[in-house]
Amino acid sequence: MIEEIAEPELTGGHAVIKMETCGICGSDVTAYRGSNPTMKYPIKGIGHEGIGTIIEIGANEKNLKAGDRVALEPYVPDFTCHMCKSGRYNNCANLRVRGVHTDGMMVEYISHPVQLIHKLPDGLDAVKAACIEPLTIGLHGATRAKVTKGEKVVIFGAGTIGLMAAFACLSYGAVPILVDVLQKRLDFAKEIGIPYTFNSEDGEIAAYLREVTAGKLPEAMIDCTGAPVILAEMHNYVCHGGRISLVGWPKQPVTINTVRCTQKEIDIYPSRNSANKFPESIELIYSGMVPVDKMITKTIELAETENVIRDMIENPSDYLKVVVKIN
Ligand SMILES: [Zn+2]
Repeated sequence: MIEEIAEPELTGGHAVIKMETCGICGSDVTAYRGSNPTMKYPIKGIGHEGIGTIIEIGANEKNLKAGDRVALEPYVPDFTCHMCKSGRYNNCANLRVRGVHTDGMMVEYISHPVQLIHKLPDGLDAVKAACIEPLTIGLHGATRAKVTKGEKVVIFGAGTIGLMAAFACLSYGAVPILVDVLQKRLDFAKEIGIPYTFNSEDGEIAAYLREVTAGKLPEAMIDCTGAPVILAEMHNYVCHGGRISLVGWPKQPVTINTVRCTQKEIDIYPSRNSANKFPESIELIYSGMVPVDKMITKTIELAETENVIRDMIENPSDYLKVVVKIN
């Protein structure tokens, strides 16, 4: 069942947008499973990877107008706290993420702050554009880890976010090394251009990392799994003075070896959402530098969402990105 909703009223600083597509994220799947065990529609609560067309907007500094096709940043900050003032609005003290804390984007119309709306180039289709938000997560993770040109970066998790982080590293001129336990994901990563992949069931991770870095170990690590077994050993996966960004969400707090982290003076940077990355992400997808079309497992109609999410729960390794068509 799909619920009828009224078109929102235009309010100051906002635009009314007719939604066109929205990606399904791993967090939507867990939200759906956790918050709705009886699996009943409406699914109005989920979705934060939305693309749409402005249908109503007031005068604005960004020169956006009705008819513009746009990507929506889903992390709605208060625009006033100390984090917002420093540009880190992704980490606003009063953050409300659409599809998590407020209504999601898998609806026909939404009202959204103009500051969080980004115009798409002509010719960028709405299905590919649904990957803009997940790519910003990879870009932010790489930026938090201060990834720079020429460095080697080990990335844990070859799902959508791990792939996005790997392409973020490539776009910053670094060399990603992707680690997972699912060989088919690693084969796919290699096929689409990730230079180094390693199946951690094939041997010792640290030994492999030493081998491909001439004994030094990578300068940076991006964890996209939140797996306790990886985090407990993370000090072994970067060199002295290395940087680690934590993108994945563990299911509960995990133990890390702070003694070894101190002995190696490892910098740890938790990475939440993304900040100021939408324009960069749009350009990387539009230019084809990040082949998101290959990462889209399927495109579905809104009415199929429930069944597909059920299948994603049962067979998570069969899926990378699924994009829902809303119109
Ligand atoms: Zn704030």
